[in-house]
Amino acid sequence: MGRKSRLPICWLAQVAERLLTYNLCINNDQLLPSVCLKQLAEKQYIIHHQMAAADSSRVRAYLGLNNSAQYGYKKYLSKVDNAQLRKTLARFRCANHKLQIELGRQVKPVKVPMQHRYCKLCNLGEVEDEDHFLLVCPTYQSVRERFRGSLPLTAITPLAELLSCQQQGILARFLVQCQTVRSELLHQT
Ligand SMILES: [Zn+2]
Repeated sequence: MGRKSRLPICWLAQVAERLLTYNLCINNDQLLPSVCLKQLAEKQYIIHHQMAAADSSRVRAYLGLNNSAQYGYKKYLSKVDNAQLRKTLARFRCANHKLQIELGRQVKPVKVPMQHRYCKLCNLGEVEDEDHFLLVCPTYQSVRERFRGSLPLTAITPLAELLSCQQQGILARFLVQCQTVRSELLHQT
């Protein structure tokens, strides 16, 4: 009888009991257990996310590009209606692009040292990273001129400021045009 009365009454109670063994508690009278469990899972994931960011140079680069270490829905996703443009922006922010900074990382068996991942389209001798590509490389100067009235594109604009600007749709079109120029020039060489 005593044994039976201690059994959990539903699966959530069983989950709660198991979590307690890890010093995690979903007991909160103000919230439904399922809501509480969801919040707990999110809290734990955010802790994991912060630890991963501290450990991975790639995640640190992503957070640097996105001007925010905060976990959560990124507002730029709701500022661009066109799905293709939205995808272009998201890919670039996740370093899913063909710039040398990323290509050099993928070379096997030995990665190209980061400081040697030079831009092949200018003679500045700089690493072709996101900052060089969008704000510095003279190859895209004419594209920048077309967008200068709508985007913060001065030589001293921090990349994070450009990527977090209000005009995300225009930013996406600027990005597409730069990528098109790059792709055409590289196929000619
Ligand atoms: Zn360049």
